[in-house]
Amino acid sequence: MATGETLTFDALVIGGGIAGLQSALDLADQDYKVAIVEKDASIGGKMIRLSKVFPTLDCASCITTPKMAGAAHHPNITIFTYCELKVLEKAGENIQANVLQKPRYVDPVKCIGCRQCEYGCPVMVPDHEQGGFTARKAIYIPFSNAIPQIALLDVENCSLCGKCAKVCPTDAVDYFQEPHEFTIEARTAILTTGFNTTPLDQKQQYGEGKIQNVITSLQMERLLAPHGPYMRVLRPSDGKEPDSIAYVQCAGSRDKSLGIPYCSRVCCMYAIKQAMLLSGALPLADITIYYMDIRAFGKGYEQFFQNAKAMGVEFVKAKVAKLEQGENQNVVVRYEAMEGDGAATTREHDLVVLSVGMVPEWNPQGICDVSTGSDNFIKTIKPKIAPCLTDMEGVFVAGVAAGPKDIVDTIAEAGAAAMEASNYLTAMGVRARAAA
Ligand SMILES: Cc1cc2nc3c(=O)[nH]c(=O)nc-3n(C[C@H](O)[C@H](O)[C@H](O)COP(=O)(O)OP(=O)(O)OC[C@H]3O[C@@H](n4cnc5c(N)ncnc54)[C@H](O)[C@@H]3O)c2cc1C
Repeated sequence: MATGETLTFDALVIGGGIAGLQSALDLADQDYKVAIVEKDASIGGKMIRLSKVFPTLDCASCITTPKMAGAAHHPNITIFTYCELKVLEKAGENIQANVLQKPRYVDPVKCIGCRQCEYGCPVMVPDHEQGGFTARKAIYIPFSNAIPQIALLDVENCSLCGKCAKVCPTDAVDYFQEPHEFTIEARTAILTTGFNTTPLDQKQQYGEGKIQNVITSLQMERLLAPHGPYMRVLRPSDGKEPDSIAYVQCAGSRDKSLGIPYCSRVCCMYAIKQAMLLSGALPLADITIYYMDIRAFGKGYEQFFQNAKAMGVEFVKAKVAKLEQGENQNVVVRYEAMEGDGAATTREHDLVVLSVGMVPEWNPQGICDVSTGSDNFIKTIKPKIAPCLTDMEGVFVAGVAAGPKDIVDTIAEAGAAAMEASNYLTAMGVRARAAA
């Protein structure tokens, strides 16, 4: 699209994670024209980065990839990736979004996703898509099943050697590409901007990110993924197979010192899931989960928890006070037992995983008039009877953008938001093409 161009749709979805994809597909199947605006270079959100998912232990990408491809090939859906939402406001009966297309320095029409530029690039930088455990090139396709399969150049790390442009068979590399703004007008919008994990780099109690063998649960998702960095579970400091792995629950949730008093709802279940997967990957390893309460709230979740216990995962009811660097690059866990004599105890593990919580990825302040709650997630004005309703007319919310939740609830909410948007469009006199 050209600078200053205005594109018109029936519905606009902000965020291309699993919630956004589901809402967009549901509306598009009703023959509404839908735009998805995603800030990353690929759609898929956090779910495409997971290994397997509780409670069924299905492969995450086997579920997510068909939704991504379904949205990408749907005749009623247009996807705008690598775009920043500048403003989302009411303009008469419409919702108007000003969007900034960030430069990829690669022409999206010419790029055929062959990766010749990636193979030719001499620069190596840590690959955050793989938890920072491996490296990627300065010009790259974000991950193997990214959609779209279009390369992007990370200018901050580019050495400007020109090799990528030389090897590109379609002449797609464009070092002079500029950002440009365009406008999307729609009658309704759904916010599905999801979450980030709680940043714990400043948390002195957990070693401020300086203990190499203390990793986050999202990094463990990558270690467990079939297309992960090492294809097996190794600890980062020395590549050793860990014999003893510990989980610290509520790391960045229910923690007033971080301003996060709420429960992130998924950490108990994903830690249990990862412990079960680790039992399969490393059958001889001891796996310990230090927890305050186990919140197994969903259908089949309590049985999942009981299965983990039967498989030999050790659950220690305790509050972890401190993580310290031990000998042989091990991690010392100091904790106060919450059962028995409540004694302060110390144990050493090869690898420690922080079960990090959820914080909102997007802050609408200054961009859109939708309100947030005291937890900073988008406020829903009728949480019991219409949980997708925001305080901005015609704007709905779904998934973790509205508060922490698992995939089951995210999908259900995304369908509900699409239904609300569809009812709103009908009330506005916008009828789906097939019905018209
Ligand atoms: C370690 C870990 C393991 C988990 N394991 C499981 C599991 O096994 N089973 C389970 O049920 N749940 C699990 N979950 C929870 C699951 O990841 C979430 O329920 C799900 O990903 C929520 O999807 P979402 O679309 O709401 O958010 P997200 O996946 O965060 O997607 C939001 C999308 O919006 C985009 N976005 C954000 N802001 C903007 C903006 N301003 N403009 C445009 N785009 C924007 C983001 O880039 C992203 O693509 C796990 C979570 C974690 C942290």
